Amino acid sequence: MSNTQSPSIPERLFKIKAAIRAAQTSEHQNNAVKLLAVSKTCPVTAVQAAFEAGQIDFGENYATEGVDKIATFNAQLPENNAIWHFIGPIQSNKTRPIAAHFDWVHTVERAKIADRLNEQRPANMSPLNVLIQVNISSETNKSGCTADEALDLALHIITLPHLKLRGLMCIPAAIDADIDLSLQRAPFEATAALHAMIKKNLPVINQDDFDTLSMGMSGDFTIAIAAGATIVRVGSAIFGERTVK
Ligand SMILES: *Cc1c(COP(=O)(O)O)cnc(C)c1O
Repeated sequence: MSNTQSPSIPERLFKIKAAIRAAQTSEHQNNAVKLLAVSKTCPVTAVQAAFEAGQIDFGENYATEGVDKIATFNAQLPENNAIWHFIGPIQSNKTRPIAAHFDWVHTVERAKIADRLNEQRPANMSPLNVLIQVNISSETNKSGCTADEALDLALHIITLPHLKLRGLMCIPAAIDADIDLSLQRAPFEATAALHAMIKKNLPVINQDDFDTLSMGMSGDFTIAIAAGATIVRVGSAIFGERTVK
């Protein structure tokens, strides 16, 4: 029998959630792993289909596209409980709309951007949840601070009242999945170790909030979970291959 129709968004979500549960080893069984649906370049109708299937957290990479999508989504579904995460590189002239429309930012890599997000977070909103992006594979021309810079940046962010420091995010260097995908575990484990080190060095009152490791995408999220990820960012495995950007 042939069935050439590709699976629907709810079917894909169901499969990914099963894979997430299966990847939660006993070592990390207490981590509630959150699935972030990366909806960049997808139409609002795709976001709605995922939301109706129970998906709450959505990730966007581009400020203008993300803000437009959030506005359209909210106009069609007022008082929804969707949570929006900004996961793209941040230009300093885009911090204001990001601070005003998103609930989380995963890609803070320097103090200046943190300061702007803090100043521009509207006073009537709860503090913006932020993650420090770490360039864990030390790739040139890639986003993220170095592992050595992360503690100082964390100690700066905790002084900013309109930000809540939640943890770290990484995008390891791409590896050839045909060779050995398990090699990807090393950078994820390095990020988890850095997270533990920073947590120990934060003032006690900031330690409980520092509970998040955002790592793993469609191709490697089960490996990231085995290394301790608490948020996996999955795009194409939910919404299909992107044709643009
Ligand atoms: C696009 C993107 C993802 C999702 O990638 P897929 O391979 O489609 O799952 C995750 N994280 C970031 C930062 C991205 O830009």
